[in-house]
Amino acid sequence: MGTLYLVATPIGNLSDFSPRGVETLSAVSEIYAEDTRRSGQLLTHFQIKNPLHSYYEQNELLRIPEIMAKLATRDIALVSDAGTPTISDPGFKLVRAASSAGYKIVSIPGPVAAVLALTSSALPTDRFSFIGFLPKKDLARRKVLEEIKTWRSTLIFYESPYRVQATLKSLLEVLGDRPASVSRELTKLHEETVRGELSELLAIFSKSVKGEITIVVGVKENGSSEPPADAA
Ligand code: SAM
Repeated sequence: MGTLYLVATPIGNLSDFSPRGVETLSAVSEIYAEDTRRSGQLLTHFQIKNPLHSYYEQNELLRIPEIMAKLATRDIALVSDAGTPTISDPGFKLVRAASSAGYKIVSIPGPVAAVLALTSSALPTDRFSFIGFLPKKDLARRKVLEEIKTWRSTLIFYESPYRVQATLKSLLEVLGDRPASVSRELTKLHEETVRGELSELLAIFSKSVKGEITIVVGVKENGSSEPPADAA
């Protein structure tokens, strides 16, 4: 019986690929990747020559039975374009199917942009919530923000560089002014983390920005990450 390996890959710095990640991808029978061209370059760099197939949101329902059949006799790995598979990337449905079928599932650790942005945000890390991408439409986005407005945890958002300004504006309008950070191009040459109140960050990121962005938002000033007094 095979094992399904979820292998984290670098989010911008090839030196972050763990020796265990390389060993695992070299040892499995086949590798499934979100974008075979992109992962192909990574595999070539690390001289990994195993067969590579696509696995993305639009073909995952076709791929899952195929991978389940292969897992009966061999080890399979899943990678995403960058970072940890299943974190705002495809894979969860495959993991659920593999679990239901009784296959062993092993995650090989590596970079997750959300965790890197959180740890460099200078915001409390004792309790955090990963929100991922907010809906693009303003109304739907506000609905999610209204829902999480009272959560007493640091919030982590993924965003495209084209929507940073609009998202910071929605965050400010719905959540109110709060300490926050914008991390850009983590692990890359031009990595930066800008910290400040949401209103300050909105002023700083008033123009379009380039690169990959993760936004981290703290609890409201004089709020606390402690549970409410009546929670116990
Ligand atoms: N699976 C990935 C992970 O483990 O972080 C996330 C994939 S998600 C499709 C891509 C989003 O992650 C980007 O839009 C951005 O919000 C965030 N991200 C990825 N790389 C980043 C980086 N180097 N710096 C800041 N944020 C990044």
